[in-house]
Amino acid sequence: MADNAQTPASIARIAIPVPLNRLFDYRLPSEFEPSTLKPGMRIRVPFGRTHKIGILLAVEKDSDIPAHRLKDIAEILDRQPILSHQHIRLLKWASRYYHHPIGEVFQTALPLALRKGKPAKISPEKYYRLTEAGQNTAPETLKRAKRQHALLCWLQQNKAIVSTQQLRDWHSNWRPVLKGLIDKQLVEASATPPASNKHLLNQTALKPNAEQQYAIDRICQKLDAFQAYLLEGVTGSGKTEVYLQVIEQVLKQQRQVLVLLPEITLTPQLEQRFRQRFNVPVVSSHSRMSDNERLNAWLKMRSGDAAILLGTRSALFTPLKNPGLIILDEEHDSAFKQQEGFRFSSRDVALVQARNLSIPILLGSATPSLESLYNVRRGRLQLLTLPARAGSAQKPSFQLLDVRNKKMQDGLSAMLVHEIEQTLAKQEQVLLFLNRRGFAPVQMCHSCGYVSRCQRCDANMVIHFSDNTLRCHHCGREQALNMTCPACKAAQLQAVGRGTERVEQTLKQLFPDKTIIRLDRDSTQRKGTLENYLSQINQGQADIILGTQMLAKGHHFPNVTLVAILDVDSGLFSIDFHSAEKMAQMIIQVAGRAGRAEKPGKVLLQTHHPDHPLLVTILKQGYPAFAEAALAERQQAGLPPYSFQALLRVQAGNTHAPQHFLHELVDRLRPDMPDDVLILGPVPAPMARKAGQFRYQLLLQSAQRKALHKLLDTLILSIESLKSAHKIRWSLDVDPVSLY
Ligand code: ADP
Ligand code: ZN
Repeated sequence: MADNAQTPASIARIAIPVPLNRLFDYRLPSEFEPSTLKPGMRIRVPFGRTHKIGILLAVEKDSDIPAHRLKDIAEILDRQPILSHQHIRLLKWASRYYHHPIGEVFQTALPLALRKGKPAKISPEKYYRLTEAGQNTAPETLKRAKRQHALLCWLQQNKAIVSTQQLRDWHSNWRPVLKGLIDKQLVEASATPPASNKHLLNQTALKPNAEQQYAIDRICQKLDAFQAYLLEGVTGSGKTEVYLQVIEQVLKQQRQVLVLLPEITLTPQLEQRFRQRFNVPVVSSHSRMSDNERLNAWLKMRSGDAAILLGTRSALFTPLKNPGLIILDEEHDSAFKQQEGFRFSSRDVALVQARNLSIPILLGSATPSLESLYNVRRGRLQLLTLPARAGSAQKPSFQLLDVRNKKMQDGLSAMLVHEIEQTLAKQEQVLLFLNRRGFAPVQMCHSCGYVSRCQRCDANMVIHFSDNTLRCHHCGREQALNMTCPACKAAQLQAVGRGTERVEQTLKQLFPDKTIIRLDRDSTQRKGTLENYLSQINQGQADIILGTQMLAKGHHFPNVTLVAILDVDSGLFSIDFHSAEKMAQMIIQVAGRAGRAEKPGKVLLQTHHPDHPLLVTILKQGYPAFAEAALAERQQAGLPPYSFQALLRVQAGNTHAPQHFLHELVDRLRPDMPDDVLILGPVPAPMARKAGQFRYQLLLQSAQRKALHKLLDTLILSIESLKSAHKIRWSLDVDPVSLY
């Protein structure tokens, strides 16, 4: 290095995934020609006692670090940058905006395989075809292997040659089934892909109704510039059809489309609709896919090999070669906000990204978030509405079931049971919604009043009879279920309250000859189970479907005509101001599952508070009226979207440290506190103890975003300078969607 003092030292400035909000400088050994290094490449560097992989952001002449302390980079992993200039710009912005360490932000943008240093190379697609024996074997001979039988039928009926992608569409757990057929020499690998037809559309588009046509025209008028739209339409109003027809125009321009969804379970169904319509490569990206599958999806969008990407939250950070459009469906859903680590909002970052890329972005929802409605008022979003259901489907009717003083059978009133009977008698399906899984949320001793609590959380243990356990839903602690009270030794422990397991049991007693499906996190843990249940429901092989939150999202069950929310009250009295909005959205979304086809639907809400203003407004006047009232309340109270918030969460293994730290921090901030920022707290978190950690929080709020963000800069510097910060763990949540 030192043999030629004239050569300016080359310094690589790298974003490394560590919880420190700064870049790290490394020296380029002389064998590297600095000009071959480009921002966006992955670099392996020594870090502490290990090596880490970071992203090169710049090559500089000087460093603030003294030369003798600079280490050499170890390896350059890419020949070409894997992140474009535009992408780097977005991620830098996100790191600043969310005040989150830049290396961790860059890490979020990369699929795991790339973070681990795998080559950025697309694995070739594999294809399979029937052997001669496969073509001539009667599927009935496989009757005992049900799945293999089904796959053989499918292959014989439809496909000469199939890709792994098509197999994945056929069933998420296709691998063992295919292997079975290969072992029997009925199927073999094929080197050639299936012949493709050259048309963009596989299927002609539906004829749009007037509102759909208006929305499509408005968006398509200006496809080559930034414009943000809110497509508001009740469930079943044909939003997806609008997406499809706008996408068609974007694809015609050889441009790519990114579609973001709040929930993994919604991807397969939409993916299928996209594939049925378009003869272009569609890929998806979500956490149930393998690392390699996700890597391929990411790379294919980056290279332009794929045209449409469907994905959840972090799919937003997939680079597109020819970006043309971003769609964010169910934009109100709080799942778009990451709730740990890098707490970004996919929706908000997507809006920035669309602006950077000069492309349109389309937010869709039946129940738009208050933020988005506010942005419509401010002219930031253009509103497009689809007021009626598409096709022949009608709006469902609502009814409150006042259950005060009524005899209930495990959460089911006699009126509800009667309605269920009537619906089943017409051979139609019933959907019941209870947002609590497990058998019962409380285990109590009838003799002494003892309640089973989690030792690590301020929470009750939940009874799960299916596997005889008590479980904490907050930290995951589990213990064997025991009916003897540890306090008084009486065998008097009882289940109090009800969860989905318990209601399922009661339903089975009430309707012994009906098929009942329970859909919750517990019943759908195994890969493929959810998909199986969904197809079972769609094929009419279920009479009553009972489920949690999961059911509220976007699923399409054409034969469901009765929907009931068993316990609306649980959502009415939360201390978090977001909860009214979430409750209202949930009611409308759940109701949207009723009567989607030709048969009209009915929605029943069981409540002890039939006069509650939220319920009355929603039922009598609908979601828009609720939203208007809620916005007026937020404005009066100075709450978001009329102000901006950031929540500092702090935790430690003892109660003292978080309090002490927050008080010190506030004292330090106080002298230069701008008048226009409010500090609320420190206060204990709503759940003050979780997983053995004591939790406190500080809420910062301002009507001026700039003022708040300036204070956050100071806040982070202050934290870094406080000794008491070493005794706690903290995280900052900018624009929190939950104060828990
Ligand atoms: P959303 O996305 O708003 O829930 P979809 O686009 O899924 O609505 O449409 C709901 C149903 O109505 C689907 O079965 C769809 O095929 C049908 N549909 C949508 N648009 C039309 C149309 N213009 N004519 C006839 N049927 C339509
Ligand atoms: Zn716990």
